Amino acid sequence: LADLSTLLKKYTSMETKVPQSISKIYDADAVRDAIYKGQLVNYYQPKVAINKSRTVGVEALVRWQHPEDGLVSPDKFIPVAEANDLINALTRVVIKSALIQAKAWQESGLVLCTSVNITMNDLSNYAFADFLISETAAVGISPESLVLEVTESQMMQNLAAVLDTVVRLKMNRFRFSIDDFGTGYTSFVQLRDIPFDELKIDRSSIHRAMYSPRLCAIFESTLQLCNQLGLDVVAEGVEDIDDWNFLCAANYALSVQGYFIAHPMPAADVFDWIQDWQACAHDRYAIKGRQVT
Ligand code: C2E
Ligand code: MG
Ligand code: MG
Ligand code: MG
Repeated sequence: LADLSTLLKKYTSMETKVPQSISKIYDADAVRDAIYKGQLVNYYQPKVAINKSRTVGVEALVRWQHPEDGLVSPDKFIPVAEANDLINALTRVVIKSALIQAKAWQESGLVLCTSVNITMNDLSNYAFADFLISETAAVGISPESLVLEVTESQMMQNLAAVLDTVVRLKMNRFRFSIDDFGTGYTSFVQLRDIPFDELKIDRSSIHRAMYSPRLCAIFESTLQLCNQLGLDVVAEGVEDIDDWNFLCAANYALSVQGYFIAHPMPAADVFDWIQDWQACAHDRYAIKGRQVT
């Protein structure tokens, strides 16, 4: 267990606090500059299978390497980009760089799915599907290793309007994920009908389920339903051993993301992190007395 705690310390210190100039409001011109002057950088947070030592993928999470303010979190500029018609350009920059990075990992023997966050605005843009199809082909990344995350609240309000694009991308083998699931109002019937591949359960829903038997029952039924519908499930925001143990007890084929496993990190750290993770998987699983496969 010594190895494990060293590993956790090493990586949890990496992005404990993104320095935030809380009071600072960025305007559209500043965000436009960030996009076009190449100041956006992708961090990557690993996604691991809970009962295997395998890292299944990484999620690209954009940061703004601001010349004066340091690393700025996406909450400070994504809403500005969305409100000022800059989000399509931002999404393309993030995806291009994620694809190039995925290709580099692939060439060094690392096979990972890459998840990227997109908005309804991107899906409504008629050229977006063409962009994805041509860009993945140009870089040499297969579409099935790119997962497009859309938040539940954005998606369920407007699914009908973008269904054509979603279906076209699905036919081209891109994968879709519903992000922050549990914060919106999707019904079980809608889950049956939408052409998605993955559900990411929001941290707050998991926490509520941990402390309420009734919500835990709903949580377990959601997992069971997803299993039966062939949807992958990811638990978001796994922060500590209690979260981890709760999810292990659910006994479903889950993947997890969260600070307990790793904070988002620069691309250059991902390769070593994965090696370390695999090396100490036995220690980790010893905690909960389960078999590693
Ligand atoms: P998200 O896609 O739901 O990403 C998860 C967020 O939770 C990330 O925050 C991540 O750093 C954070 N997180 C990860 N593990 C934990 C944990 O254990 N506990 C807690 N409390 N938080 C955890 P981040 O990177 O600040 O991103 C925030 C949101 O900004 C993302 O939420 C996503 O909606 C949006 N975002 C990030 N990058 C992009 C992008 O390239 N495009 C768009 N459109 N949105 C983005
Ligand atoms: Mg996401
Ligand atoms: Mg999320
Ligand atoms: Mg979120």
